Amino acid sequence: TAKIIDGNKVAAKIRDECKIRVDALKEKAGVTPGLAVVLVGEDPASAVYVRNKVRACEAVGIKSYTHRLDASVTTEELVVLVHQLNADTGVHGVLVQLPLPKHIDMERVLETISPEKDVDGFHLYNVGGLVLGKGDFFPPCTPYGVVKMLESENIKVEGQNVVVVGASNIVGKPMAIMLMGQDATVAICHAKTRDLAQFTILADILVVAAGVPNLILGQMVKTGAVVIDVGINRLPDGKLVGDVDFESVSKKASYITPVPGGVGPMTVTMLLENTIDSAERMAAKKN
Ligand code: NAD
Repeated sequence: TAKIIDGNKVAAKIRDECKIRVDALKEKAGVTPGLAVVLVGEDPASAVYVRNKVRACEAVGIKSYTHRLDASVTTEELVVLVHQLNADTGVHGVLVQLPLPKHIDMERVLETISPEKDVDGFHLYNVGGLVLGKGDFFPPCTPYGVVKMLESENIKVEGQNVVVVGASNIVGKPMAIMLMGQDATVAICHAKTRDLAQFTILADILVVAAGVPNLILGQMVKTGAVVIDVGINRLPDGKLVGDVDFESVSKKASYITPVPGGVGPMTVTMLLENTIDSAERMAAKKN
C-alpha cells in the first residue's frame, strides 16, 4: 500500500523556514512582510480560504491586511484599490480572492496587480516567466506546493511520465509547465479527453485537479505510481473528498496524498513563501 505524503507535515517544515526568514527580514532590514487580501462578497468557501491565509500569515509573522468589499463593488473601484495596494510600501503581496462576482472584469483586476506583488502568480508577466523559466516570477501556489511535496520525498521527476488531469489556468496548466521544466514527459487531460484511463495508466506521477469525486479509480493507475490529489469536493453529506478514490488507488500507488491534509495546506504555505520572497526582493532593491 502507498505511503501517504502528509501535507500538514511538509507544510509545517516549510513554515518553520518561513518564520526564520521573516525574523531575519525584521532584524536585518527592518521590514515586516505584508500581504493584502481582497475579498469580494459573501462566498462561504472564499471566506474560509481567506481566514486560513490570514491565520497562516500571523503564525509566521507576516502582517496581513484584509479588505472586505461588498459584492456590488465595481471593476473600477477594485482597480483603484489594487493601485493603492501596489503603491503601499508596507504591502509585498496583493491577492484578490477568486472567484469574483460575474459583473467584475476579473482579467482586468488581475492584470492591475503589480507583477512584483502578484504572489498568486496569475499575472501575465508571472505566467510568462514560468513558461520561459526566466526572471523573478512567482509560481502559482497550488502547483508549486505539489512540486515541494514531490521534493519532500525525493521523488524523481526527470524523465518520468507525468499525467496532469485538469487544465485550468490556476492548477493544471502551470502544473504541467513546472514538471515539464524539470524534464518530465507531460500529458495534460481535461473534460474533453477521450478515454482518460488510457493516459492515466501510463503515469509514473499522476496529478489530478479536475474537481470530480472518484474520477480516478485503482484500475486507472499504474502499479507504483505517485498520485497527487489536488481536488477538493464537498459531498452532499458534508464530507470533504478529493478526485481520487483513495481506497482503491492507495492499494496500487507507491505514494498518495490524502484529502484533506494533502495539497491544501501546501497551497497556503507557498503563498507565505512567495510573500516572503517578494519582501526579500524589495528589501534587496532598497539597499
Ligand atoms: P477548474 O474547474 O477551473 O478546472 C477543472 C479542469 O478539470 C478543467 O480543465 C476540466 O476540463 C477538467 N475536468 C473536469 N471534469 C473532468 C473529467 N471528468 N475528466 C477529466 N478532466 C476533467 O478547477 P480548478 O480550479 O483547476 O480546481 C480543480 C480542483 O482542485 C477543484 O476540486 C478545486 O477545488 C481543487 N483545488 C484545490 C486546491 C488546493 O489547494 N488543494 C487549489 C485549487 C483548486
